[in-house]
Amino acid sequence: MPITSIIGELGRARRGGYAIPLFGFFEMNAVEGVIRAAEEASSPVILGIYTNMIDADSVEASAAYIRRRAEGCKVPVSLFLDHGQSYEQCIRAMAFGFTDVMFDGSRLPFEENMEITRLIVRAAHAVGAGVEAELGHVGMAADEAGDSSGLTDPDSVRRFVAETGVDSLAISIGTAHGVYRGTPRLDFDLLSRIASVTDIPLVMHGGSGLTEEQFRRAVAGGMAKINIATDLFQASTAAMREKALQEADYGCMVEAVASAHYERSLHYFKLFGSVNAAGRGDMR
Ligand SMILES: [Zn+2]
Repeated sequence: MPITSIIGELGRARRGGYAIPLFGFFEMNAVEGVIRAAEEASSPVILGIYTNMIDADSVEASAAYIRRRAEGCKVPVSLFLDHGQSYEQCIRAMAFGFTDVMFDGSRLPFEENMEITRLIVRAAHAVGAGVEAELGHVGMAADEAGDSSGLTDPDSVRRFVAETGVDSLAISIGTAHGVYRGTPRLDFDLLSRIASVTDIPLVMHGGSGLTEEQFRRAVAGGMAKINIATDLFQASTAAMREKALQEADYGCMVEAVASAHYERSLHYFKLFGSVNAAGRGDMR
């Protein structure tokens, strides 16, 4: 099917009590593994390109590849700009054919974050793309262990959503990007307070390293999109190391990347409850 904005699917996920994963990637063996799993699970899937790749000469060709690849898929595929840093970067991604963009204004003052998000939403909706914003700040696991200063303020959520018209919202309840030093502590009471003031899909960044119980509680609490990257990269690195010890050739090494992505992404589709969500329609 044609590549598609994930917003409709995320709305169904929030109402249906499941979540759709975003898998970060930067090369095509990873994409092939993820797509194989998504089709087997019959789950919608989001392929995320990180902000620092949007200026690479190859990104427009990568987007064309994903668009063409999605056409042959039986499940909805979204191409997503993760952590877009500016209005211009988000517009450029949409010009390349990205179906969804995140604008990460989480380090900006509230009013400035709101104003830029509002402008991007207006432009994106004119071309059928979806927008995710971030309120509060999900930092790096290595820097901010135990730091709660970036947690999302539930009192600001309603106004931010109403004034920007944003489609989904990344919130901070205690997760972090990268590799955790220990098991993170998540504030599920804060999640329920945020979920009670908005019915748009909530987004969790920094998913790699949470326990299965934490994932289940987050999804039940309103997280309808969960970003996973570190776990897939670690699984692929381990798989390639193992092949290297066996003196495997280049073809076996890249197949190990695809296989690791297939296995880990299938695990997350099952854990997040999105199996058979493709084409399920609205349950209400
Ligand atoms: Zn993130």
